Amino acid sequence: MTDCIFCKIIKGEIPSRKVFEDDLVYAFHDINPLCPTHILLIPKRHIASLAEVSAEDEPVLGRMLSIARRLAEENGSSGGFRAIINTGHIGGQEVAHLHLHVLGGPEPVGRMVSPRG
Ligand code: 5GP
Ligand code: ZN
Repeated sequence: MTDCIFCKIIKGEIPSRKVFEDDLVYAFHDINPLCPTHILLIPKRHIASLAEVSAEDEPVLGRMLSIARRLAEENGSSGGFRAIINTGHIGGQEVAHLHLHVLGGPEPVGRMVSPRG
């Protein structure tokens, strides 16, 4: 995807603070952290969202979930973390390249979602 900011980050066309990379995934610090630890973990292949995945994506989805704990531990959240995948308009997804937020820090991160008001 030529127009996708996260594809450009993977290619190095947009700078990022990388924390991990392997054959399937790329991870970097969120530019606007919501917690002391805020890592974005993305598939290297462009997948628009969790609503667009198919069985062929299972290896990369498994890698994303299995590497999250290590990324949290190595980046200041050794006592656990929260993993979030915002999906589509209802899920509040802003960047149309699937990404797992890994959130944490020294203190509990708080409520999962704000009550509607
Ligand atoms: P979403 O709302 O789609 O789940 O999350 C998108 C996330 O991407 C946001 O937390 C936002 O701060 C982050 N983000 C957007 N553009 C960039 C960028 O160019 N670099 C980095 N490191 N993070 C970005
Ligand atoms: Zn992309």
